[in-house]
Amino acid sequence: MIIAEGSPASEGIGIGLIKRLHWRVPKVPPGVVEEGGAQGEVLRFDEALSHARERLVALKEDLEGRLGSVEARIFDPQILMLDDPQVVEGTRDYISNHRMTAARAFDWRMLELKERWAQTSHPMVLDRLNDLEDLKVRVLNRLLGIPDPWAFETSDPVVVVARDLTPSFVARVDPALVAALATDEGTRTAHWAILARSLQIPAAVGLGSLTQRCQEGQPAIVDGRTGRVVVDPDENERQRYERRRTTILGWADSIHEIALQEAVTVDRQSIALRANLDLPGEAERARLYGAEGVGLLRTEFLVVGRNKMPGEEEQYEAYKRVAQTFPGQAVIIRTFDLGGDKFPMFLHMAAEQNPFLGWRGVRVCLDQPELFMPQLRACLRATAHGDVRIMVPLVNTVEEIQAVRELLNAAADQLRAEGKPFNRGVKLGTMIETPAAALKATELAQHVDFFSIGTNDLVQYTLAVDRTNTRLAKLFDPFHPAVLRQISLVARAGRSAGLEVSVCGEFASKPLGAVLLLGLDILALSVAWPSLPEIKKLIRGLRIEDVRRAASDALHASSSQGVKAALIDAIGGLPDLAHNSQH
Ligand code: PEP
Ligand code: MG
Repeated sequence: MIIAEGSPASEGIGIGLIKRLHWRVPKVPPGVVEEGGAQGEVLRFDEALSHARERLVALKEDLEGRLGSVEARIFDPQILMLDDPQVVEGTRDYISNHRMTAARAFDWRMLELKERWAQTSHPMVLDRLNDLEDLKVRVLNRLLGIPDPWAFETSDPVVVVARDLTPSFVARVDPALVAALATDEGTRTAHWAILARSLQIPAAVGLGSLTQRCQEGQPAIVDGRTGRVVVDPDENERQRYERRRTTILGWADSIHEIALQEAVTVDRQSIALRANLDLPGEAERARLYGAEGVGLLRTEFLVVGRNKMPGEEEQYEAYKRVAQTFPGQAVIIRTFDLGGDKFPMFLHMAAEQNPFLGWRGVRVCLDQPELFMPQLRACLRATAHGDVRIMVPLVNTVEEIQAVRELLNAAADQLRAEGKPFNRGVKLGTMIETPAAALKATELAQHVDFFSIGTNDLVQYTLAVDRTNTRLAKLFDPFHPAVLRQISLVARAGRSAGLEVSVCGEFASKPLGAVLLLGLDILALSVAWPSLPEIKKLIRGLRIEDVRRAASDALHASSSQGVKAALIDAIGGLPDLAHNSQH
């Protein structure tokens, strides 16, 4: 049995036989073009570009029909590259002036661009290298007459293992035949991973040398919630995951029933159980899964892979669509959280030594009113269609919130003057994602209408553990007493100021995490939509009195193990948790 720990990229459990995909950029044979042959090569290159465009547009249209327009835009960066003079003119120049073959000229040009892009350490740019590679393979294969590298035949579900994948591959996968995806490299923000989430194919990334450690045809399990892959599982492990998968599939069958149930504890304490959304297209599914609104609408989908700033109208339509999916329920739109692992091409951010400690979140928005104002206006206009609230990421100080409020007031004045409707009492909240914000919660509470704790970042900044570094995954510990004490502090500060305190970090979707949070009297949780049934079932089996006692014991523990033990002890154990390394 081999266990590989990577990062979660798409929820769900996939079980199947390994299918190793060895794909690489084709090797271009050497050679020069005969005297007078350059014109013909330029024509061949142009034909390969039109062929690529045709195929990409067809893939885009197919996705648009199956998933919606936001997902379909995943192919835009590649389509845009086909018109980029750096790509097109650069290649033609190599053909005409250096008598290179079309394949060689294109190969060189793309290599140069890759080198240039790779010099930055921004993960977002590195994700776009994956798009570049996808396009490169497509065009070179056409020029060299190589058949489709992605085609494979199977009649049984397979677990695809590869160094990395591409959007073109995932867009054509049949979810009935591909049980899961697992890659040595890759990130959760890569376009293919976003597609896998939309298509509900479980995926894990950053698995190191998995391709070398496994063999074709071996049985494997991919746990897309924890990023764990088990190759050749023993009987115990296999049965455990089979059980878990059956439970998850069982939820899918009774999803309507679960969705209609209230998120309420045995002793009738209601919990606001909302969904985290990465794309507006997920709103409908979240509603079907029983979400009572949206606790975190990430808005970075509007900038990922785009070469210009998103306009107000497009944003307004996207936010309105989500608001209308949840009539009368809270829809919390988080303003752009750029920087860190989310880097937009159009801002031309200089490479930073430590992007997570750099120009990120509210800092970027306050420095770029031309980016921020259209978003604030679009959010405000969406308030006319539901209980839309606005939330700001990575806040450290009261001054930042005051500056946002000033801009929000200015946007409201503009809309009023233009006669556009919006809710004048819109709620403005802050995320609590840094120790600075947690320790200043009492002061911040005087300036906002709600708190939402982002444990993904709070853990990262408290423990100095990069959340994207798979090598440090074991150290990324939300049960660390230092994290727990800050959450408790924020909950108390928010409560005494009469604010709603919620948690929208991934900690809320872990059963033991949810127990702890409820025990700290945090009565609003926002989780990735696939986790909604599990967390709702958990809530319905708990007594608030028991979880309060559990949290109070946990607060006295001096280690993460002690915290977990106190929780399990106080509530008499949790189903399936004893085996779950990531609880
Ligand atoms: C968080 O930090 O916990 C959070 C929810 O925000 P994101 O994961 O988008 O940084
Ligand atoms: Mg965050």
